[in-house]
Amino acid sequence: MLDREDENIVWHEHHVSKSERAKLKQQRPCVLWFTGLSGSGKSTIANEVERRLHQRGKHTYLLDGDNVRLGLNSDLSFSDADRVENIRRIGEVSKLFVDAGLIVLTAFISPFKEDRNRVREMMQEGEFIEIFIDTPLRVCERRDPKGLYKKARKGEIAEFTGVSSPYEAPQEAELHIQTENMSVSTAAKSVLEYLEKKGYLRC
Ligand code: ADP
Repeated sequence: MLDREDENIVWHEHHVSKSERAKLKQQRPCVLWFTGLSGSGKSTIANEVERRLHQRGKHTYLLDGDNVRLGLNSDLSFSDADRVENIRRIGEVSKLFVDAGLIVLTAFISPFKEDRNRVREMMQEGEFIEIFIDTPLRVCERRDPKGLYKKARKGEIAEFTGVSSPYEAPQEAELHIQTENMSVSTAAKSVLEYLEKKGYLRC
């Protein structure tokens, strides 16, 4: 990456600060980083969490896999280098939205620990909340909401996480949700309880 300081490009502090924006919204901005296999339930649970936060008057924004790949990251493939760049850009966008005072939710497989940790390091202490949606591969494959496992097993999708590409499970996620025997509603409730307990929903 380019060293921007050499080009005299530096971060500008604005007159209105992150904490002032957050105060107006009565919330502590953060990113809820959902990670897990395809079909594990990241998107479904993140949507439900966002709905509940919105109902409580909280300002949120959900960044979702396909939507980002259709726009911001439409130039990226699924090669190793592009997967790294995909997560890096999502991290940077999340950081800007956190700076704007929002509670950001992201739903990306983000299979590699190093990539997730790089995003964690971009944020300030307490702003990155990793949520491991831990659903066994056999359950994801049974759900197969987009028919992707079927295609991957037939060899029609190269390097598919869980089938032909590894998933590195988080060891120290802030939240660990096992969905096999848990409803979407209970999973969402546990995220809201965490945010409440840790003081993210007031300022
Ligand atoms: P991902 O975003 O991780 O790829 P999705 O949320 O798109 O996964 O798909 C998960 C699928 O599993 C959905 O069709 C959802 O309705 C279903 N599902 C069944 N039980 C659960 C549960 N307990 N938690 C989350 N999703 C569940």
